[in-house]
Amino acid sequence: MKNKEKKTIGLTTWIFLSLILGSIAGIMLHYWVPAGYVRDEVIINGVFYVIGNGFLRAMQMLVVPLVFCSLICGSMAIGDTKTLGKVGVKTVVFYLFTTAVAISLALSIGKLIHPGVGLDISNIERAETTIAETTGFAETLLNIIPKNPIQGLAEGNMLQIIFFAIFIGILLAKRGERVTTVARFFSEFNDLMMDMTMAVMKAAPFGVFCLIAKTFAGIGFDAFLPMLKYMFAVFLALFLQGFGVYQILLKIFTGLNPIKFVKKFLPVMGFAFSTATSNATIPLSIDTLDKKMGVSRKISSFTIPLGATINMDGTAIMQGVAVMFVSQAFGINLTAVDYLTVIATATLASIGTAGVPGVGLITLSMVFNSVGLPVEGIALIMGIDRILDMTRTAVNITGDAVCTTIVAHQNKMIKKEVFDRMDL
Ligand code: ASP
Repeated sequence: MKNKEKKTIGLTTWIFLSLILGSIAGIMLHYWVPAGYVRDEVIINGVFYVIGNGFLRAMQMLVVPLVFCSLICGSMAIGDTKTLGKVGVKTVVFYLFTTAVAISLALSIGKLIHPGVGLDISNIERAETTIAETTGFAETLLNIIPKNPIQGLAEGNMLQIIFFAIFIGILLAKRGERVTTVARFFSEFNDLMMDMTMAVMKAAPFGVFCLIAKTFAGIGFDAFLPMLKYMFAVFLALFLQGFGVYQILLKIFTGLNPIKFVKKFLPVMGFAFSTATSNATIPLSIDTLDKKMGVSRKISSFTIPLGATINMDGTAIMQGVAVMFVSQAFGINLTAVDYLTVIATATLASIGTAGVPGVGLITLSMVFNSVGLPVEGIALIMGIDRILDMTRTAVNITGDAVCTTIVAHQNKMIKKEVFDRMDL
């Protein structure tokens, strides 16, 4: 046992070391190593790409089977539909509330810092913009029910998977003794997926190093300069949401120690930062909440995948600041009604943003359209979005975890002695 604990601590430290070393290696490659076959093809697009994406794909491989099995087990264990319904409603309300807070915070910071005032737009490199296709509300709602569950699983459609898995779980609980074989199958397969998560995570230091080094080798700082104010505003709002708003909510609703939460959750944030995808973070998030914080999988197997799909507070923050930035840069005045519209549409956009890299920028066009801002404005911020995407993904998944902890606490599904232990 002792040995195992030591190993876990080692892994966390290693992930952080690789984050730092990877950034340094990437920046050094970008500035000091001359472009050419060896740097670009062998190192960056060869070694870094293969190891980094190999690791990422291995984590992604786990998402669907893990979510599916653990959701079935979770809803089967909770059993009654009333509790499940209550947990569901509470979670969704909480998710929407935190997103609205996030976007309001972003708009306020945009008002204070004026990221777009006095900007020389002609200085900034523009990229091609993609515009989001909007699906109607009725369609979005209907889409939760899979016409073909196997297709839902194959496409990794999280809401459809959640729907189908909970349905199975409830029926398994109802039929009890008569379905022990099926119930045992899912529970054993679930254990297997958890073991696989731990096995894949052993490669995390290498994977994280390569992903980060490749990203930084590509970015460089030149594009950042005219955008520093915008970036600063986004970072500040993300920081306040991640380490302020969430931790205050955690303290108020659960009385648990926010510092302990942050310390234990940091490696998950590091993983989300290096991969920029909430979806791929699901297995690690569920595992960390369970092993280090005592949050029951019965809750997290439901709330974490749901959050990774519909709760994107970090993304909403970027969208709020982007609205302020572009309106200021183009000299467009927004009214109080416009701000309310932005809060509403960005909250909806957050639901529609998939937990994969860069999608927040695409759904941003929906927010811009709602208040008549020029969609070309998105081209201004596209060049520097990757680093913001990484940071906002870390905030996105922190919001899901805080909410999960609160809901688990309210349903007495958290082991406080595990949460309080610092040697885990
Ligand atoms: N990359 C983000 C996530 O996975 C989504 C986005 O804002 O683009 O949470």
